[in-house]
Amino acid sequence: MDGYLKLLTGRVGLGRVGDVGLGKGCGKSDRCEQKMTKHTNLVRLATLKTSLSISLAAFAVGLCVAQEVPGFTPAKDPSQSKFQAPIPRPWIEPGFCRVLYVQSPNSGVRPADAVIDTIVVHATVIPTLEQTTAAFTREASQVSAHYTIGRDGSIVQNVSGFRRAWHAGVSVFEDRNNVNHFSIGIELVNLDDGKDPYPKAQTDALCMLIRTLERRFPLKYITSHEYIARPVGRKNDPLGYPWKTLTDTGLAIVVTKN
Ligand SMILES: [Zn+2]
Repeated sequence: MDGYLKLLTGRVGLGRVGDVGLGKGCGKSDRCEQKMTKHTNLVRLATLKTSLSISLAAFAVGLCVAQEVPGFTPAKDPSQSKFQAPIPRPWIEPGFCRVLYVQSPNSGVRPADAVIDTIVVHATVIPTLEQTTAAFTREASQVSAHYTIGRDGSIVQNVSGFRRAWHAGVSVFEDRNNVNHFSIGIELVNLDDGKDPYPKAQTDALCMLIRTLERRFPLKYITSHEYIARPVGRKNDPLGYPWKTLTDTGLAIVVTKN
């Protein structure tokens, strides 16, 4: 099938990384989602822009705006209270393939019938892991990802894989709308300009993370934000990513432009 690069090698080896659990979440975020679905994309974008700080707005162009396909009503989420973790100070990156959990308020429950079978890879545009973590844990940003991987392979988790992070925006994959429902979003710290390299430590960490997630979720696909974003051309990340580095995951890599 056009657009598919099926790489079916064996699955060997495990990273030291993993999902560190559910933790407490945010009921308000779901109300946020419901409210957002009642507006047009334009209104949502305008609201987002005005709610961001000037510094964050400078980065927002490359971020994954939390637009949702109209009609989605999140299930009630009574077990999750609003919780926003403070950014650890001083900031110390956890190191290669080690995970620091900093909970984001920007998440919701997945649909009850969601089968989490897709990894969506992004580039942050934001230049550092610390700044990305700050953006994803700020409620006003209305964006998040499950994981962000720094240039040295350090991993920050902001949302449990069992919950729905807000990374994809309006999106389609395998004839399914709203990719946030059934995907795990992984951001790579990179300027997304086609020139900024993805260091080996970072590509190795992504491979190890996906291998670990394969043990917990029925993963079948790896795709790019560029491939799933609608309208086509809305996103181009992760620009220049060396996809062949993910061969050992054994998953279908679906990244060719539509
Ligand atoms: Zn993205």
